[in-house]
Amino acid sequence: MFAEILTIGDELTRGEIVDSNSAWLAARLWDLDVTVRWMTSCRDDEADLRAALATATARVDLVIASGGLGPTEDDLTCDVVAAAAGVPISIDETARARLEMFMASRGRVVSEVNLRQTRIPTGARVHPNPAGLAPGFEVAFGAVPVVCLPGFPREIHAIWEAGLGARVDELRRGHGTAPHIARCVYRIFGRAESQLSEALRGLADGVPGATIHYQVKFPEVLVKLVVRDPDGAAAATRLAALDAELRARVGPWIYGLGEDALPLVLGRALLAAGHRVAVAESCTGGMVGALLTELPGSSGYFVGGAIVYANDEKVRQLGVALDSLAAHGAVSEAVAIEMARGVRARTGADLGVAVTGIAGPGGGTADKPVGTVWLAVDGPGDAAARTFRLQWPGARDQVRVLASWWALDLIRKAIGGGR
Ligand code: ATP
Ligand code: MG
Repeated sequence: MFAEILTIGDELTRGEIVDSNSAWLAARLWDLDVTVRWMTSCRDDEADLRAALATATARVDLVIASGGLGPTEDDLTCDVVAAAAGVPISIDETARARLEMFMASRGRVVSEVNLRQTRIPTGARVHPNPAGLAPGFEVAFGAVPVVCLPGFPREIHAIWEAGLGARVDELRRGHGTAPHIARCVYRIFGRAESQLSEALRGLADGVPGATIHYQVKFPEVLVKLVVRDPDGAAAATRLAALDAELRARVGPWIYGLGEDALPLVLGRALLAAGHRVAVAESCTGGMVGALLTELPGSSGYFVGGAIVYANDEKVRQLGVALDSLAAHGAVSEAVAIEMARGVRARTGADLGVAVTGIAGPGGGTADKPVGTVWLAVDGPGDAAARTFRLQWPGARDQVRVLASWWALDLIRKAIGGGR
């Protein structure tokens, strides 16, 4: 099954926003084995939108559009789609009821303008929007379904979860002899794509319908195993065998599966272990703390800490010894350990993690070039004074992100989460 993603809006074609909707939808479609052949963006312009719609419906089996469902005059999607389908516009009563409740809860009444975003082409299949007021809808152009969604990314995600994903899978299954897909996504941090492909060489060879994909999603790498088969059970059995083989080869490198990124995996592990963490950050300037507080409920495992950019603050806030700074420099294993110990002692956390490095582009020396970062964890038992030296000859933003992830990974390992 071939699809086209059509994103609509002046903000896109003027370069004011980045089209993340296309990327997000393309990834979901890829997961469902729907091949995106085209991604198109057009302005909020009636004639252009009409032309884009005609082109798309003539060259693919499914069109997914985003944007232009709002209440304002520049929101044209409903009008253009209804006119092209030759149907009048009506109000979706469920969406209207939600809109009325929403406005009432704010002590406001529904205006004509508000009501515009509950319009759908008459007879369209409605895709309810749990995160917003404008529902998505689907209209068939001959054999080609056109799904129209609002522009807001979080509304698209909610509509997808609420049923659009299942609907697209249903459409795919109805389209010829689509195979079943069994799939597993492994998340790996701290190993290069080349190391992984080396370790997994030949894994899927000779296994019918099996493929292996690598995706570098800085600063981590995703490995995706996919097995396609007309028989769903056969696909699952073959995937299970490949999964066992993959784990035998690179199991200790895998920190998580599927959508679960490192902050989530670590947060869960800290909660399960009942450990609370504090941070001492120099070159990352608070990024480690930001990552550790990404999740709701992070107060269950994150205490706080110190951003100690200047040496004086390393001494004042964390009790780093002046002698250590003089003897080893701020970017050193000794100072990283003292920072981790200091923040652990002063906050009473179970674990302290410290980052001190040279993010660049200036400040490097021959023995400590830009991209040198020392990390340390201090904690009970085996977690005492674990250290790591990162050497990444990259740009400043990369060094900082990478160092922050290493800090998280070091904590993960310190509490027994593999090597
Ligand atoms: P509204 O009620 O705001 O009119 P809408 O359904 O008409 O909603 P748009 O106006 O097209 O949608 O977009 C709403 C917002 O969603 C935009 O301001 C932008 O921030 C974001 N957005 C729109 N399209 C995209 C896209 N392709 N990728 C990422 N973000 C987008
Ligand atoms: Mg709009």
